[in-house]
Amino acid sequence: MNDDTTQTNCVFCQRSKIDTYILKETPHFRIITDYAPLVEGHLLIMPQEHYACYGTVPASFDAELHELKREVRTFFDRFYASPVVFWEHGVFRQTVFHAHLHCFPFKGITYNLTDGLHDLVVSSQDDLRTWYASQGHYFYLEDPHHALLFSPDMDRYFHVIRTILWTGATAHNGKTEWRSPQQRQEAGKAMIPLTAARWKQFQQQGEAHAQ
Ligand SMILES: [Zn+2]
Ligand SMILES: [Zn+2]
Repeated sequence: MNDDTTQTNCVFCQRSKIDTYILKETPHFRIITDYAPLVEGHLLIMPQEHYACYGTVPASFDAELHELKREVRTFFDRFYASPVVFWEHGVFRQTVFHAHLHCFPFKGITYNLTDGLHDLVVSSQDDLRTWYASQGHYFYLEDPHHALLFSPDMDRYFHVIRTILWTGATAHNGKTEWRSPQQRQEAGKAMIPLTAARWKQFQQQGEAHAQ
């Protein structure tokens, strides 16, 4: 790998640091369990090489990404009886500057288009690339109905966190207070092997089960 695509200070670039979390690898991507899951089943889809956000991931990877998103959708449907909510905080408010798409099994959680906080209804990954090239930072939310891009505004960001992610997480675990990544990491330790075990079972079932 060259210097553009590997950063020595980036955790997600160091396979040895994340290998216990890896569930699946494809030519350009990995699916890993989040190290501080909000709920059981919380996954990340990330490129293997270093890109700051999905706004810089090349179009030639889109089909592979699309397939992984489809697979996560099937996994959540089968094992959590739940649709998927995808979330990318982009470079904005990010703690690890390596593109990653959060995947949550959240039921009944949808963004209300009439809230009007989004800047763009996204129809393809190209929309993210075009925005990032011209406007820079963004954050991204995809529920079962819409994919949405938001400009990096703190009020909008916290609104989405509260109404989507917080609501989805508390519906699962009954906790009403937002927890810090450190607290989540503590509480989430037990969830990681459960998620991994279900994923393994899912992979063993194969596609045949879907029929
Ligand atoms: Zn990286
Ligand atoms: Zn993240």
